[in-house]
Amino acid sequence: MPPGARAQPPRALHTATDVSEQIQSVRGMNDVLPAQIGSWQHLEACTRELLTAYGYEEIRVPLVEHTELFERAIGEHTDVVGKEMYTFIDRGGDSLTLRPEATAGIVRALISNGLLRGQRHKLWCLGPMFRHEAPQAGRYRQFWQVDVEAVGCPGPDVDAELIALSARLWRRLGISGLTLQVNSLGTPDSRRAYRAQLIEYLRAHEGLLDADSQRRLAANPLRILDSKNPQMQELIRGAPLLTEHLDADSRAHFEALCAMLRAVGIAYVINPRLVRGLDYYNRTVFEWITASSGAQNAVCSGGRYDGLIAQLGGDATPAVGFAMGVERLVALLETAGRTPAAAHPDVYVVVSGAESELRALQLVERLRSERPAVRFELNFGAGNFKAQFRRADRSGAALALIVGEDELARGVVGMKPLRADTGQSECPVAQLAPALDAALAAAASAAASRE
Ligand code: ATP
Ligand code: MG
Repeated sequence: MPPGARAQPPRALHTATDVSEQIQSVRGMNDVLPAQIGSWQHLEACTRELLTAYGYEEIRVPLVEHTELFERAIGEHTDVVGKEMYTFIDRGGDSLTLRPEATAGIVRALISNGLLRGQRHKLWCLGPMFRHEAPQAGRYRQFWQVDVEAVGCPGPDVDAELIALSARLWRRLGISGLTLQVNSLGTPDSRRAYRAQLIEYLRAHEGLLDADSQRRLAANPLRILDSKNPQMQELIRGAPLLTEHLDADSRAHFEALCAMLRAVGIAYVINPRLVRGLDYYNRTVFEWITASSGAQNAVCSGGRYDGLIAQLGGDATPAVGFAMGVERLVALLETAGRTPAAAHPDVYVVVSGAESELRALQLVERLRSERPAVRFELNFGAGNFKAQFRRADRSGAALALIVGEDELARGVVGMKPLRADTGQSECPVAQLAPALDAALAAAASAAASRE
C-alpha cells in the first residue's frame, strides 16, 4: 500500500441512529460563505486580469493524479509526499492522490498532450490543493492556490518578471508589509558537494537534532535547514551555506536575477537558508512572507525546476513558477480593510395581490432582457405589503417597483426611490425601461451628493 493510504472498512451509507445526526464538514476543509466570497472574487479577478496582461493563459488540470506522479516529482522524502498526501486506491485498484500542489499536474499535462517540443508556455491555474496537515489558522487540509508557471526559458529574466508580477499583484490588491526572500539552490551537482559538508556538520551535532531532522539526515539533509522548530534555529544558523558552494553559472544567474530585481525597484532579502519544501527546485527560489512570526507566514512561494520535466519523461525543458495561498492572501486583504463592498440589487420588485404574481414575473423577465446590467430582486410569495417594503429597504436597492392589480388594470407600474424622500410615481408599462434608467441615474447622483 502506498504511503498515506489507509485501509478503510466498508461503511454503510447511514444507519438508523445516524440519519438525524448533523453532518460535519471534514476537519481542515472550509466553506467559503457568501459573506466572504466578495474578497475571494476580488482577488481572483485582480489576479486573472494581471496574469492576462502578462500573457499567461489559464490551464485546468484534474484534482486527482496517479500517486506516482507526485512521488516522482515532489520527492519521497519531503513532508508533502512522506506524510501529507491524500492517497487512496480507487475501485479499479489504482493508487490515486488528491493533488497537494499544481506544478506536477501541469507538467504532466504538457507532456501527455504533446505540448513541449521546444515550445514556450506561460500558464496559470487556480484551484484547491489537499494536504493532511495539522489544521490551524492559515493552514488547512483543503486550501486554494493560484499557480503560475513559465515553461521553456532558462531565466533569469523570466524569474525576475514573475517576481515583478507578484509584486504588482500585492500593489493592486493594496497588500503591504510583505518581504521578498530569494536564494539560489544551484545545480544538482553543486548541491551534492554541499550536501556532503552539511551532513558532516549535522552529524557532529547529532544530539541537537529533533526527531524529524534525524530522519532527514541521511535522506534529505537540506530539508533540515527548512525546519520551523525554534530549538533547531541556532544549529541551523551555524550550518555551512549552500550559497558558498554555488557553481559559477548558478552564481551568475543569481547575480543577474538580483540586478534585475533592483532595476525594477523590487526590494529583496537574500536568505541563504531558504531551501523550499519540494525536491524539484534548482537555482532560483523565492518566498513572499508576512511580518507575522508564525509558521503560516508564507503567502507566495516558488522557484525554478529545470530538471523536473525530463525527470517525468518529457523533453528537457527549463521552467520556473510559483504558487500563492489564497486563504492567506484573503486574510491579509481583510486585515488591510481592502475587501470590496457587498453587492446589492438596484431594483426591488414589490408585488401586490396574488393575481399580479404572473404579470410581475413576466415584466421583470422582460426588463432583464431590455436592461441586462440592472440587478432586479423580485419579491417571491407576494404577501404583506409592509413586509415587502421592509425587505426592499433591507436589500439595499435604490428603487422599488410596485406591480399591483390596480396599477396593472390601468397599464402602469408604481415606482418609488428607496433612499430619498421623493414620493411614489407611476409609469406606463410600455415606457418602463427608459423610466428605470432615469430613476436609477437620479438615485445614483443623489447618493453621490450625499457622500
Ligand atoms: P508552508 O511553509 O506554510 O508549509 P509550503 O512551503 O508548504 O508552505 P508551498 O507548497 O510552496 O507551501 O505552497 C505555496 C503556498 O501555498 C504557500 O506559500 C502558502 O501560502 C500556501 N499553503 C501551503 N500549504 C498550505 C496549507 N496547508 N493551508 C493553506 N495554505 C497553504
Ligand atoms: Mg508546508
